[in-house]
Amino acid sequence: MEAREALLARVSAADGTTEIRDPATGEVIGKVTYGTPEDVKAAVDTAAAAQPAWAALSDEQRVAFLNRAADTIEEHAEELAYAIVREQGKPINGLGARYEVAGCVGWLRATAATPLPTEVLVDDETNHAELHYRPIGVVGAITPWNWPLIIATWQIAPSLRMGNTVVQKPSEYTTLCGLALVDVLNEVLPEGVLTAVTGAGDVGEALVRDKRVGKVMFTGSVKTGMKVVEESAGNLSRLTLELGGNDAGVVLPDVDPDKVAEGLFYGAFINNGQTCAALKRLYVPDAIYDRVIDSLAAFTATMPTGNGLDENTALGPLQNQMQWNVVNRLVEDARQRGARVVMGGDPDTSQPGFFYPKTLIADIDDDAPLVQEEQFGPVLPIIRYTDLEQAIAWANGVDVGLGASVWSADRDKAKEIAARLEAGTVWINGHGGIHPMVPFGGAKHSGYGLEFGVEGLKSVSVPQVISG
Ligand code: NDP
Repeated sequence: MEAREALLARVSAADGTTEIRDPATGEVIGKVTYGTPEDVKAAVDTAAAAQPAWAALSDEQRVAFLNRAADTIEEHAEELAYAIVREQGKPINGLGARYEVAGCVGWLRATAATPLPTEVLVDDETNHAELHYRPIGVVGAITPWNWPLIIATWQIAPSLRMGNTVVQKPSEYTTLCGLALVDVLNEVLPEGVLTAVTGAGDVGEALVRDKRVGKVMFTGSVKTGMKVVEESAGNLSRLTLELGGNDAGVVLPDVDPDKVAEGLFYGAFINNGQTCAALKRLYVPDAIYDRVIDSLAAFTATMPTGNGLDENTALGPLQNQMQWNVVNRLVEDARQRGARVVMGGDPDTSQPGFFYPKTLIADIDDDAPLVQEEQFGPVLPIIRYTDLEQAIAWANGVDVGLGASVWSADRDKAKEIAARLEAGTVWINGHGGIHPMVPFGGAKHSGYGLEFGVEGLKSVSVPQVISG
């Protein structure tokens, strides 16, 4: 066994009842026995018992633990990256698995370094009022399968910093990655502070319904996010909901197509399009429509799809059959409607693995399902516009609003358009870049609550005013 395979072997259960397969090859990479709602109860018992002592530590002590957690992830970086490739499918190199692991380290350290001083609100001869941020108690952290380590880290790090303990439920599709992360972090964290529960939706539901869980950090689809709101209603739990997106990019006529091609590619195709805030619809003016498509197609053609273990691979397979079916259905529908397949769109189903080719679709109407629904795959529809007002209306014409982008040589003009787009973040001349000190969250059905930075710390705590 290679050294980097050890962690995956350790978290796999030899007598597990469900086989986990590599999405690139179909090969069995491990086994798990999924947990049950009873296991959730036991995990919350553990988290609730550990919480008072964790909250009683000083902020400096918890910061030190977060930095030690970052150190241990660095020590296991290659093993964690290998687990991601084998279970999730993304490439080891480039903006892939090693990049995801490095992000966990960076976010843990940044969360440890974020200052959250007591705020003095009023201080005069009549009153002195201070705002403090107290722990909530137990946080339920529920994650999807696309970025299994970094999204969990975004939920765990601020929760721990603020004196909460955490029960983490990974997606059933990336159970081994979830267990691997918790296993590594628990090499340095005190017992009971972080516990994993595995399983499907019923396990997530049991976690949300547990009355001792005061806060749910949920990242996933809009549909499940709505269920979480209902499931948590009886507890009035605090919620952070990071839900799906269908991000629009609006290109203005003044761009140089060759200069924006690389940024457009990474915006749309990072993690094979399986990214909440990926560029999922591109609006391009008639005057430069063909040139933008030519430049983007030329760049896209240079990025190889393949098994993520190959250091040269830029895009891996889709993670699961369900997502492959969504992508294939939307592309077939676009073709039936007479849209033009510029490249891709023709999967080779004779080979194992959930591979789907990089696909660009042109001359497609805004009302096509490929434009209106979230594809979450390596496919970008490119819609032609002649009137910028129409493009803005189309960009705002869906229920979700996670991210958006404006592409222009004129920054001021781009900012004017950005202010009119209904999204939690609007990038200019780029798409999807995030930073641990810059809050991130959705508009409309993409959810509510902010992650990262000071706002992220506040969202996992109870504000308390001390006055007098
Ligand atoms: P799902 O909503 O299907 O699942 C998310 C998590 O919720 C999984 O762990 C899932 O378990 C669990 N779950 C399922 N049912 C329930 C329930 N009733 N109560 C509580 N938890 C439940 O999303 P996907 O895993 O399919 O992830 C893809 C989606 O996530 C995309 O739509 C994407 O846009 C969105 N996303 C949003 C991000 C953001 O920051 N806004 C980031 C990444 C993804 P199980 O999988 O085992 O069923």
